[in-house]
Amino acid sequence: MTTSSSSRPIPGTLMPTYARQPVAFVRGEGAWLFDEDGKRYLDTTSGIAVCGLGHAHPGVAAAIADQAATLVHTSNLYRIPLQEELAERLCAVSGMSRAFFGNSGAEANEAAIKLARLYGHKKGIALPTVIVMENSFHGRTLATLTATGNAKIQEGFGPLVEGFVRVPFDDIEAIEQVAASNPNIVAVLVEPIQGESGVRTATKGFGYLKDLREICDRHDWLLMIDEIQTGNGRTGKHFAYQHAGILPDVLSTAKGLGNGFPIGATLVAGKATELFSPGKHGTTYGGTPLGCRAALATLDALLDGVVDNAAVMGERIMQGFRERLGAYGVCVEGAGLMIGVILPVASAASLVALAREAGVLLIVSAEHRIRLLPPLTLTAAESDELVARISDLVVDFLKAEGVVAA
Ligand SMILES: *Cc1c(COP(=O)(O)O)cnc(C)c1O
Repeated sequence: MTTSSSSRPIPGTLMPTYARQPVAFVRGEGAWLFDEDGKRYLDTTSGIAVCGLGHAHPGVAAAIADQAATLVHTSNLYRIPLQEELAERLCAVSGMSRAFFGNSGAEANEAAIKLARLYGHKKGIALPTVIVMENSFHGRTLATLTATGNAKIQEGFGPLVEGFVRVPFDDIEAIEQVAASNPNIVAVLVEPIQGESGVRTATKGFGYLKDLREICDRHDWLLMIDEIQTGNGRTGKHFAYQHAGILPDVLSTAKGLGNGFPIGATLVAGKATELFSPGKHGTTYGGTPLGCRAALATLDALLDGVVDNAAVMGERIMQGFRERLGAYGVCVEGAGLMIGVILPVASAASLVALAREAGVLLIVSAEHRIRLLPPLTLTAAESDELVARISDLVVDFLKAEGVVAA
């Protein structure tokens, strides 16, 4: 008799940084994951917005296998043609001018924060300060957890990094007030839609980014957009700022860039283009032949109609939830396949296990916000199945909670 690995206790040798769910997956295919017993789950998480093309995408799998058997890593001491090609392709699709490659989202934001400081010092500002938002998430390194607007993530890690001031998300007036009183501001760092805090959109939608662009231009600040989660097609455009018809000065992205292969990028344009010079920044693993090959294969597939599909399926899913759940006081917000379903309860945390047992994987953020991040390749039939199954789960849950009549 073998016991499945998900029924054994987690060994104490693994640092307990995550409260893991008691399930392990052995195989994936598109929007579906299979556990050790062969049970099939509809995956609305995509590895937290990472596997935009779904699991085991054939094009990406073949590219990784071929590159792994050819050349994995040489270091940035030498030219890396695949890295140069990826920079060209990403700049073409984003409108940005230059790219730096790292391995994660936090690293991409660290580079952004370093750029803001270089920019400030170039202007003679000794204490360059970045405006960041409440409820934001930017990563777990010291600088990025300082930028993050969540006390739980910062607790125990003081002293935090200097040079950040916080304002409410979606509040241009608060930024004007900071501008009037603080001469050290050099940049604004913002997520187009706040992801980790449960898919929060601005009242003006992407028009908020337009207002931020205007205020940054007026004060000669860098507009730094964190598209680690919203990027690579997630919101129905390749990058979310493209909905607003603007260009940031600094763009960070990671999730979704390599469809699960760890790679991140910081892109610059405009007044941020010339800030990094040799010796100013680096990372051993950044932009390896293998990582760049994975990202190029991902980009090829995204440009082959997948981003447009995300826009269409996103509308279909949001409309479906509004029809099925609107009468129960459930709200829906988001763009493309980044969708928040907000339940009229204090906590919906227990819905995660109920859904998993019913064969649906989902994330609940900020106590009562279902955060849907399904693969961008979702078919119409899968989209309808997602809406039907989650709506049934939500209605049963609201009845059990006594929020609606049984
Ligand atoms: C996930 C995320 C990060 C951090 O990325 P890691 O790869 O986990 O370091 C930063 N910003 C946003 C908006 C994210 O969603």
